[in-house]
Amino acid sequence: MSSAVAPAFQPVLDQIAADIAARPGRGRPADYIPALAEADTSRFGMAVAEPDGTVYGVGDWRHPFSAQSITKAFTLALTLALEGEALWEHVGREPSGNPFNSLVQLEYENGIPRNPFINAGALVVTDRLHALTGDASGTLRAFLRAESGRQELDFDLAVAASEAAHGDRNAALAHFMASYGNIRTPVPELLEQYFRQCSLETSCADLALAGGFLARHGIRADGSSLLTRSQAKQVNAVMLTCGTYDAAGDFAYRVGLPGKSGVGGGIVAVVPGRCTLCVWSPGLDERGNSVAGVAALDRFTTLTGLSVF
Ligand code: GLU
Repeated sequence: MSSAVAPAFQPVLDQIAADIAARPGRGRPADYIPALAEADTSRFGMAVAEPDGTVYGVGDWRHPFSAQSITKAFTLALTLALEGEALWEHVGREPSGNPFNSLVQLEYENGIPRNPFINAGALVVTDRLHALTGDASGTLRAFLRAESGRQELDFDLAVAASEAAHGDRNAALAHFMASYGNIRTPVPELLEQYFRQCSLETSCADLALAGGFLARHGIRADGSSLLTRSQAKQVNAVMLTCGTYDAAGDFAYRVGLPGKSGVGGGIVAVVPGRCTLCVWSPGLDERGNSVAGVAALDRFTTLTGLSVF
């Protein structure tokens, strides 16, 4: 990994940071996880990683935050790499149109969640990764450490415990799917894995670098292959259609890139073949996406013309 002040992206990031600083109103931090409720909404960071690992940043781009649902893009990729097409027998790939933690669709769709990025779908993916590896959250942490080059990257066990203490809805989702035979790990063990996964403390630089394989068409930082080109396209496609809660249509309209957000206020976005971005600011809109984060990505694609459209 190299850090550099760069001709191409640095002025764009500086411009975006100036534009964001001028915007009033940054939304509210997630308050249903008490450990996240105190986040400072004036924080803002953004990083861009090029396929060769050169990374540029602005603001709080090295400041760690709770990755939360952004991890779902990585567990999807890791599970798809190990399991291939069979994964899709257990989870769909259509937008849900419902909030990320909704229970309503699951019953009339027989315990098969709509997509891997709503909580029910993420629990299925983590269950499968756990069965395949024996340690889903540890496998994810090892992957993020390797790709970001930051060996200290770790869980925040206080956040995981805070979420576990308020995890009735995720427990309900997991038990419900287990009743359909779509979860194999004992539910308490699965929830522990899932909350650890969500609690990973990552910076914009970490996630922009770790998501580099999505810009490199499936190739990891060391040159080895995680996904086929076609699988990398699939993950990017699911991010575009399902990656930003029930606002994916608006995100596609404004930003025009595959993206995955989390209630910690981070968003990862991909320009296939060109770069991976991560932006962070903890104030969320009513759908759960970072207000300043979406605005910054919107500015990025407007200023650079880089989008998938
Ligand atoms: N750990 C959070 C939950 O399951 C993740 C939510 C999110 O970032 O969307 O509620």
